[in-house]
Parts: sequence; structure tokens; C-alpha cells
Amino acid sequence: MIERTLGQVADMCGGRLIGTASPEKKIAGVAIDSRKITTDVLFVPLGGANVDGHAFVEGSLQAGAGASLWQRGREGAPEGALIEVEDVLEALQQLSSAYLLESGAKVIGITGSNGKTTTKDMVFALLGDSFRVHKTQGNFNNHLGLPLTLLSMPEDTEIVVLEMGMSDLGEIALLAKIAPPDVAIVTNIGESHLLNLGSRENIARAKLEIASGIKPGGLLVYNGDEPLIPLVLKEIEHSLPEGLRTFTFGLEGTNDDYPTGMMRRGGGMTFSARSEGDLCFSLPVLGSHNVTNALAAMAAARTFGVGSAKMKDGLATMQLTGMRIERLVGISGLTILNDAYNSSPTSARAAIDVLAALDGYASNILVLGDMLELGEQEREYHREIGRYAAKAGIRAIYAYGPLSADSAEGALETMGAGSVHAFLDKEEMIAHLRRNLKPDDAVLVKASRGMKLEEVVYALRDEP
Ligand code: ATP
Ligand code: MG
Repeated sequence: MIERTLGQVADMCGGRLIGTASPEKKIAGVAIDSRKITTDVLFVPLGGANVDGHAFVEGSLQAGAGASLWQRGREGAPEGALIEVEDVLEALQQLSSAYLLESGAKVIGITGSNGKTTTKDMVFALLGDSFRVHKTQGNFNNHLGLPLTLLSMPEDTEIVVLEMGMSDLGEIALLAKIAPPDVAIVTNIGESHLLNLGSRENIARAKLEIASGIKPGGLLVYNGDEPLIPLVLKEIEHSLPEGLRTFTFGLEGTNDDYPTGMMRRGGGMTFSARSEGDLCFSLPVLGSHNVTNALAAMAAARTFGVGSAKMKDGLATMQLTGMRIERLVGISGLTILNDAYNSSPTSARAAIDVLAALDGYASNILVLGDMLELGEQEREYHREIGRYAAKAGIRAIYAYGPLSADSAEGALETMGAGSVHAFLDKEEMIAHLRRNLKPDDAVLVKASRGMKLEEVVYALRDEP
């Protein structure tokens, strides 16, 4: 984590020492939560929805904070070490950016509609053995999470792997400005945040803001199966960095890298890749989308000189962040695929493919909750997912939520009424599932974050 004198911090964040602050005083780390103050930490009073962090500056200093930021012109500054800044959030971002620059760490920035966290975990698995690598924890991927990730990084970090998320245009550009990538990955273009962005073209434009932020001579690794990406790259040609190199991955044989063979083995995948000849890789996660995520991660690792053997070991032993098609054992040995972290049409189709491809189970069952923030066409997207699941050969569908009623409708076009169940009450659905699931069934649970379908997973794991 960051350790600097107050004088240095003030310079780095464009602020000015006021109050009793001595420029030589040292701070260690930053905190945005006044309940989590540790000795000598720099307190950052952000504006919240209801309360403003400035109300907690005095208490934080008393609790042992080394200093606090303070917004210029604001009344009521308490006694103590303060750094006055124009805007607290911007100062935090600027501080993190300056710290990154001073550390000299290389940056791998990962964006895309789906697969960011997974690909980040894969990149970490590939590089972690050979370099001092720091990565985004969990899903800390926005204008606040990313600076905090940087400031928590050890000073001697060699490579930092950053997830860059967005819900609107301009957000990725800001993140890439704070932490200009040496290597950027665009995992895919889906439909998440369609509500804000209006079209898939705009989603592609928003994601590709990362390309303009790459350092000169850097590398852009992108999903070549998505035709929108080259179109947008052409559109933004004038703003791309000098000497930008590109590398494409995907399922199609026209990409720089693609799987030359792939199969499911147990709870994971084995595959070979064009880039690695006959070598066979194994991954502890399911789905062809995870194979393409791995190809993207491998392309990033290769630029740091990681060889085939290291890649093989790294992928085989990778640790995945929870709730991404996480395989669990439920009541009486039932198999649960917990993908309740989030959902969108693209990721739902990927997860349905995984469920449909499983064999050795009596039935494959889909528990599907609403996909949120899809905008005007949301009902049609839901209907389409129902149709997709039915076509994929799913044996029973449990649809939860008002929008998922449309998914059920879509499924009913080809599936019998006895196999499709729609619910508006989660408890009622859980009771139904518990009565009807058999130990040799496999059930996939998938929905947007707001639907909290992990509650279904927990209920199916408990002994009755
Ligand atoms: P968020 O925007 O919520 O942070 P994310 O981009 O970090 O999401 P992950 O958490 O890695 O995505 O994966 C979420 C889910 O998306 C996975 O469980 C899987 O169902 C699906 N998914 C992952 N990678 C892909 C991909 N390349 N294409 C389509 N779906 C994917
Ligand atoms: Mg994520």
C-alpha cells in the first residue's frame, strides 16, 4: 500500500497542506470508511448518497488517521493534519495514478461485457508465479474501486491486473487515464448496460475507450468473433496510440488464436490452442467461453515472456472468484452450477450451453431470474433466452421474476407446460425446487445481481 509523507501526498494529488499538517509526517494506506481507520492512514471523505464523508473527518483523525483530505472552501475544518483539494474523488484518482507511475508497475487492463473478473483471475494465475502481481479484489472495477486497488498495491509490484467496468460512455476512458494499460483485453461485447447506452454499437464504443488509453507501442487483445470491434477501431483510428499492436482471439479460425480442440472433462475443460501447437491445457472451469477467456489471458501473459509450461500449470491451478458457474454439491448429492453473480443475454446463453453440454445427469434444469437494465427490448431479450434454453435441450425451466415470465413464454413455444414453471415468489419457487429436484439432476442458477438468486443456491445446499 501507499506509504508517503504528507508533503509528497499533497504534491501527488494536487492538494495543499493546511491545518497542523507537517510535510514530513508519514501516512500509510488510505481509507474511505471512517469505521475502518488504521494508524496513520489517509482518510478520504467521499460524498455518499445520504451523508458526506467530511462529517467523519474529525472522528477519523481522533481514531488515528495520519491526515485527511478536505474539500477546498468547505466550512468547519477540524484541527489536525489536512490536505485541501479541489475535489476529493478526483484527488484520490490522481493520487492513485501518481502512485502507479512512481511504482513503475506495468498495467494489464481488462474490460468487456462478460468475463472480466474471470479473465483477470486467469491472468493472475499465469503471471503470479513469475512476477510480483497485484490484482483487483473481487469486483472493485469502477472510478472508486480502481484507485483503491492501486493504492493498496505493494510498492514493489511489477504487474497490476485491473478490471475496468463501466455503465456508460466515458467511464472506461477515465479508468484508462488513471491507469494507462501496457496490455488491454476486451473479452467480448454483450448487452449489459444497454439501458444506458442504447445500442450494442455504443457498448462497443464504450469498451474500446480502453484502446485509446493504451500506452504507445502497447498491445490490444480483443475478441475477434465480434464484428463490431474492428468497425469501432476504424472509427477511433485517429485517437489510437502510436505503434499499437493488436491480437485477436475467439472460437473462429480467422483469429490470431483459437482453440484447435476442446472438450469438457469433469468440472472443467481441456483444450489446445493454435498459438501453442500440440500442447494440451486444462482449466478447472466449464464452458467454451472460459476457453476463449483463457486464450485472451494467455496472449497477455505471453507478452511478459511466460512460457508454455508455466501457462499450463497456471491455468490448471487457477482460483476463480465465486459464483461464476461455480460447481457445488446440493441436497442429497444434487449438482448445482452457481452462476448467480450476474446475467445478461450473452452470459446466459454461455451458461445454458454449459448446462446443456453436461452429460451423465438424469435432468438438466435451469433456474433463471430476470436480466436487468436491458432497456426497451428487455421483454424480447427474455423471450429469446427462453427459446434458446428450450432449443438447447434443457429439460425443465424455473423462471423467477416479472421479466422471466417472458422467458417462460418463450420456452413454452416448444416445451410442454409441465416442464416450464414461472414464479414471482422466491420462497415458493424454492419449495417447488426442493420437492422436485432429484440427486442425479444438474441445476444451473443464473440471474442479474439484483435478483439475489444465490438465496436459491443456499437453500438447495442446506439439508432439508
Ligand atoms: P461484471 O460486469 O459483473 O463485473 P464480469 O465481466 O467480471 O462481470 P465474470 O464475473 O467474469 O464477468 O463472469 C460473469 C458470468 O459471465 C460468468 O459466470 C459466465 O456465465 C459469463 N461469462 C464469462 N465469460 C464470458 C464470455 N467470454 N462470454 C460470455 N459469457 C461469459
Ligand atoms: Mg467483474
